[in-house]
Amino acid sequence: MLIRAGDTVEVITGADRGTRSRVVTIDRQARKAIVEGVNRVYKHVKRSQKNPQGGRLSKEMPVQLSNLKLICETCKQATRVGARYLEDGSKERHCKKCGAGLGQIAPPRPAYAK
Ligand SMILES: [Zn+2]
Repeated sequence: MLIRAGDTVEVITGADRGTRSRVVTIDRQARKAIVEGVNRVYKHVKRSQKNPQGGRLSKEMPVQLSNLKLICETCKQATRVGARYLEDGSKERHCKKCGAGLGQIAPPRPAYAK
């Protein structure tokens, strides 16, 4: 799973298709992400101690990761993400379109050094 919290992604399906926004959190188990401003729903809340007014609360619901594409900062395109080993044996993500590195995801391991 190569999309991380803090990444900028594009939504490729559904009502928010085409939206580019930031990933807030990732649920690895459910393979879902909460993306800023995407999949907003109104939750109707009853009056309570915590929320004395009650009313409608707007919040983001998780979206399936397969409906998201990462935006590459180098070529500005929505792309797939690959992973590769670098010369020192560390692992990094890269853009499948332009090949630019997208940051290290694992520390150097001698066994994978070239
Ligand atoms: Zn790129």
